[in-house]
Amino acid sequence: MSRSHSAIDRVVSTKSDKWTKIASRNPTRTIAALYLGPTGRTNSYGDAGEDFIFAMDAVRRIAETLSRSTLPQNPGEKREEGPSNEELKKNMEDLVNAGVVEALCRNVIELKGDTMTDEAMSSFYPPFVILYFIVIGMNAGNPLDDDEHEEKNPVNRRVLKEIVDNWEGMSDRWWQEPQNSLKQDATHEPERLLVSRLVGYLLLEDSSMYSKILHPSSNTLSLIARHWAFSISASVARLNLSILRSIIFFKFSQNVEEYLSEHERPSVVSLLKQVYKGICDPSMSNQYGPNVQTSPQQLLQTMSTRLALGDVSYAIEDLGFCHDIYAGLRESATVSSNASEFEEFADALRNSEAYWHNAFALMRVKDSDNSMHTEKELSVDVLNLALKLILQQPASEVAQVTKTWAKAGLFGVLDETMDDLVKIPGAPRLLTFFYTTIKESCLSPSFPPDILEALKDELPRQKAVAAVMRYESEQKSDKELDAIGDKTNDDDIPDAEDPIWINGLWQAMGWLQGACHRDHQGLERAQLGAEDKKLDTSLSPILCARRTCGNNAVSKCSSCKEFWYCGVECQKLDWKEHKPICKNNFAAPYMQTVRAGAKKLSGGTQARLGLIGLGPNDPNADSEKTGTVVDRLKSL
Ligand SMILES: [Zn+2]
Ligand SMILES: [Zn+2]
Repeated sequence: MSRSHSAIDRVVSTKSDKWTKIASRNPTRTIAALYLGPTGRTNSYGDAGEDFIFAMDAVRRIAETLSRSTLPQNPGEKREEGPSNEELKKNMEDLVNAGVVEALCRNVIELKGDTMTDEAMSSFYPPFVILYFIVIGMNAGNPLDDDEHEEKNPVNRRVLKEIVDNWEGMSDRWWQEPQNSLKQDATHEPERLLVSRLVGYLLLEDSSMYSKILHPSSNTLSLIARHWAFSISASVARLNLSILRSIIFFKFSQNVEEYLSEHERPSVVSLLKQVYKGICDPSMSNQYGPNVQTSPQQLLQTMSTRLALGDVSYAIEDLGFCHDIYAGLRESATVSSNASEFEEFADALRNSEAYWHNAFALMRVKDSDNSMHTEKELSVDVLNLALKLILQQPASEVAQVTKTWAKAGLFGVLDETMDDLVKIPGAPRLLTFFYTTIKESCLSPSFPPDILEALKDELPRQKAVAAVMRYESEQKSDKELDAIGDKTNDDDIPDAEDPIWINGLWQAMGWLQGACHRDHQGLERAQLGAEDKKLDTSLSPILCARRTCGNNAVSKCSSCKEFWYCGVECQKLDWKEHKPICKNNFAAPYMQTVRAGAKKLSGGTQARLGLIGLGPNDPNADSEKTGTVVDRLKSL
């Protein structure tokens, strides 16, 4: 800007300088100006509406500079000209003592913009952002750094107290202007960011904040839920969800006990209702009403669209939230004997193809170096949530969710990611339980045949199997295997990181395949025949090994002599998949587990499987009550 200032610029600059001086020397006059509003008449100091803007801006500069000073400074960075931090702090203390926080809260609650255009930020935002700067600046940044025993200085106390006292009015204002928070654009993103940051800060600093936001009439939870649902960036979505989750599930370490010692803990159900209210678009709610029947679906839909942001750190929070809700509602169902809320949510989760599709898709994400979390953690979280959903559930429910997973691409994702997945500590055990639990249900008479058919089309997954077996052969020496074989009667479940789980995993994959195909003649014959004999396939056809082919096989792979195909065409098509299993001599041991999956195990195999905690299943027994695996899993 090399051109000379226009007359207007000069006036602005003069006014601005004037108010910078007043704000630093005359707090009382500054506060008086903050109450004028943009159209205020001349007050006793001779200031009027136009001064309001300049006074506000002068206060903002002090607060903002002070809050910046709490940030770590880059080495070599030149400090801006101006008052020292001590001077700024003293200046702000004088303003606080003169009532600047009250004045700003008042403006957040009452200030109306003259021209509220679509692109404009909300009229409550300018005073609100100053409040935020004051809190950060006066409390020197991160409250977690504070020494707990250090008594807060009275000025800082006053800042927090005034904001908490005015919280209801401010949050009502934010809540009642959905045109701001619902607008999915960058202009309103800072509001969605700062409200949650301030809530988190206040909760850590002041236990009375809990009483405010957990009061049944408070809109805060709904507001944060709305900010979560309508934010545009993954980081803002994550912050809002993390605050929401921390409040609902009492994850804040500080001040929670203090609150709970005087108040009854609100039920998860009641807090979730506030969330449902928040994620519901108000324009839609007139039409449908935020009715309880559809709310869990809506919540899952929101979580699912947020997962589609494709951010690993965000997804970890989202999956954790889903898990907390599931566990929280289940717990509340057992306590209150009212299980409907839990059933509705669990059912929605079992059927939400979109949620699972987006979660599985994230397991493919790689190289997110800038993420707070790794994609490996994410994969484990996804599978953990999935496992929770099928553990100890009746076969029909496992079937339902398995169908959803198959449609959402679970087996394909596992195929693509198993190379990495199997190397994650704890993942092989998790996956072993996962496959085994589904397999147990498959063997139940109440497993719906159509879902069994659908599952058949998903298996085998030779690529995934080969990845596990290859990893096992790389990891384990024969010596180690022998050592494990010695502990036959050990009833304990090995540690999550015990390498035996890698072995358990591919066996479990084989069992599942076998369990799905158990009605097939070839396998049935294997079941009836002597176990150690080779499967005699000359007597009846077996199914083509190429996934989804479904034809009867006529010839076996001449190399491994274990995989059968309907013809040369299918064998060629399948070679890329089959090669790793075939060429590494994995085919025979794998097919042994496939055949074992369909029948009662005995002898050495039984002992060996018993050893890893997944001992024999009796398909003739009532699988709804089959003890072995489920009982063992309970203890995890
Ligand atoms: Zn082969
Ligand atoms: Zn075929």
